[in-house]
Amino acid sequence: MADRIVIKTGREKSLRRRHPWIFSGAVAKVQGKPTLGSTVDVVSDKGEFLGRAAYSPHSQIRARVWTFDPAVVIDSEFFKQRIVAAQAARDVLVGQQTNAYRLIAGESDGLPGITIDRYVDTLVCQLLTAGALYHQETLFAVLAELYPDCTAYERSDVDVRKKEGLPLATGARIGDIPSKPIVITEHGLKLAVDVVSGHKTGYYLDQRDARKAIQTYAAGKRVLNCFAYTGGFGLYAAAAGAKEVVNVDVSQSALDTSVTNLALNGLEQANVKHVKADVFEQLRTYAEQGETFDVIVLDPPKFVDSKASLNRACRGYKDINRLAAKILAPGGVLLTFSCSGLLSSDLFQKVVADACLDANRDLQIVAWTQQSADHPVHIHYPEGWYLKGLILRAID
Ligand code: SAH
Repeated sequence: MADRIVIKTGREKSLRRRHPWIFSGAVAKVQGKPTLGSTVDVVSDKGEFLGRAAYSPHSQIRARVWTFDPAVVIDSEFFKQRIVAAQAARDVLVGQQTNAYRLIAGESDGLPGITIDRYVDTLVCQLLTAGALYHQETLFAVLAELYPDCTAYERSDVDVRKKEGLPLATGARIGDIPSKPIVITEHGLKLAVDVVSGHKTGYYLDQRDARKAIQTYAAGKRVLNCFAYTGGFGLYAAAAGAKEVVNVDVSQSALDTSVTNLALNGLEQANVKHVKADVFEQLRTYAEQGETFDVIVLDPPKFVDSKASLNRACRGYKDINRLAAKILAPGGVLLTFSCSGLLSSDLFQKVVADACLDANRDLQIVAWTQQSADHPVHIHYPEGWYLKGLILRAID
């Protein structure tokens, strides 16, 4: 008989709603001898089939469901079908805009714990869970078959691996280590991406739509791009004819890549400055000096990593938004984001409202933004929505 997890009476409700996570507290017993990441059948206390899942003995999320269909076997055909389906969706949704996109978005593409970002001919893979690790050879064999012209590089150097009791892992998995940097084309702009040592898998693909949106507002304007990383928003603004762009980030290497990106697009003559500084301090300095900007981007890293840090994080979001509102020129536009999944969009909007109140500014929301379409949110897995943004215009 297959290894099984029996769910406590009454705790199977979320599974019946097709949410893929099984928390340790919902498990009545484990039958058989499942190993790290191996496949288990999940059954109710009455023995009804609920799902087929990967077993994570060291994680609070004790198992993640691969399928709710009893007929589906978790083998190479399973992985192939899910990847082919995800690729077909990307071809339609983002194929015209870019040659760099999220190919597999974990739970939302029916592959919990697996992230694959495609940068031209390089597949950058994150295997975040025991289940993903258990099937890694199958997964890379399927990728090699489906993508004969691609190399694959693993970037499983993320903290969630530790929660699963897994060591961090990086390295070439198909072909050689990618030549650095890979030059992608996004909305007609070239960007250098270091998939080996850049943030996440190398680039913030999830902000593609918002970067495009800044072009509506940037022509002839003075633009401040806070938390610039490799200068994506700044590059789009410069390409749209901004009068001046200031990119602020703490990372010198990220700012150096921004300079490279401008040159790649023949925009080295554009009036773009780079300031290596803490954004909180830099905004304060601008406020004290009475400097103003017509367009301001606030795209900070994740401030909330646990429910316990939510209050402190809200203070951080409020602080930067208050300062940005203060230095926003009359009629100016603020593009402000949060990539903290634990901060709801409602609460984020309230925090920004409080910030505007404290800054004594009247702003109107002209658009809400979210992660681009290659980062979909499975309807039964709302946790998949993490990135939200507001585009606001000063009307005072
Ligand atoms: N907007 C970028 C992504 C930003 S990621 C894009 O579209 O690609 C967040 C960035 O914030 C990182 O580059 C990180 O180096 C930077 N960062 C984090 N804390 C910071 C701080 N306190 N001050 C300035 N930069 C910071």
